[in-house]
Amino acid sequence: MTDRTHVKLLIVGSGPAGYTAAVYGARAMLEPMLIQGMQPGGQLTITTEVENWPGETEIQGPDLMVKMEAHAKAMGTEIVTDIVTRLDLGQRPFVAECDSGRRVTADAVILATGAQARWLGLPSEEKFKGFGVSACATCDGFFYRNREVLVIGGGNTAVEEALFLTKFASKVTLVHRRDSLRAEKILQNRLFRNPKVEIVWDHELAEVKGADDPMGVTGAVLKSTKDGTTREVSADGVFVAIGHAPASELVSDQLELHDGGYVKVEAGSTRTSIPGVFAAGDLTDHIYRQAVTSAGMGCMAALDAEAWLAEQDEAGEPDPGSAELPEDATAG
Ligand code: NAP
Repeated sequence: MTDRTHVKLLIVGSGPAGYTAAVYGARAMLEPMLIQGMQPGGQLTITTEVENWPGETEIQGPDLMVKMEAHAKAMGTEIVTDIVTRLDLGQRPFVAECDSGRRVTADAVILATGAQARWLGLPSEEKFKGFGVSACATCDGFFYRNREVLVIGGGNTAVEEALFLTKFASKVTLVHRRDSLRAEKILQNRLFRNPKVEIVWDHELAEVKGADDPMGVTGAVLKSTKDGTTREVSADGVFVAIGHAPASELVSDQLELHDGGYVKVEAGSTRTSIPGVFAAGDLTDHIYRQAVTSAGMGCMAALDAEAWLAEQDEAGEPDPGSAELPEDATAG
């Protein structure tokens, strides 16, 4: 496509929310531009089997995202491989500046930047990141053939990571801070049946133990959440799978946010605190966080943007700089 410097609709992010918004936006003749971001395809590109995408009994996450990208492109979306480094929502048209130096202005923006893995924040976790501490079994599991690993967490991600790691590791120990998992029952059953898996209930990771030369993990200190006692276990790798945090840094000082950094939207819509800016997917959803619900929100965002742009057209072109920020939207 062209090197456009102004678009009607700019979509930031390339997970299910972004690509679905792109499909709907393109079909509404809004000629959207979608900027993919740091991880084109989003979180599903670092997962394996997806079994809950309607119409696909089982599909690999990366394959699903390739299909979504192709669909968005086929409908007429301009897909740009770049990273938005600055977004100015305080003026209209809105301004996005990218890592490559690209600068694009947009009449409406759909934010679909998703979420990233959370970390525990332990100094030893930080020290061994990339040297035995990971948040992505799909990326790093291969390095643990016939070795022993720990997985921290009790949600779907932790259980899926643990199950995936059993393909390589000789032993997978899931460490969970409570005595029951929050993961789906079907996943729990698979985990409990797997002979390579041991579960340590009511414990949290207190420290990662390792060597400096060569850098690598040798074990961990686990702390009881019942009585505070600690014990050391040996392990060659530690996978942290304790949930996700929304990627809202670009807009955190411009839009109203919920606790935890999720972008606030009006109930039943994708409208944020700035007119013309819409949010969809994990960036705004702290409850469902599924590929299919993200896609649904992406659809809503495109429809909301289309309606809002039509209202602007009817009312005449907006004055540049006329965007009114709610009083508290600029608070940090
Ligand atoms: P999650 O559901 O929020 O689970 C996070 C887990 O980490 C919880 O078990 C939590 O413990 C534990 N945890 C949180 N902070 C901790 C800490 N500081 N120390 C120790 N443990 C801690 O996150 P998720 O598993 O990443 O899943 C996120 C969303 O994506 C969910 O909605 C999930 O259903 C969805 N998802 C779906 C699929 C799928 O459908 N196949 C796959 C992956 C993810 P508590 O239980 O005690 O709170």
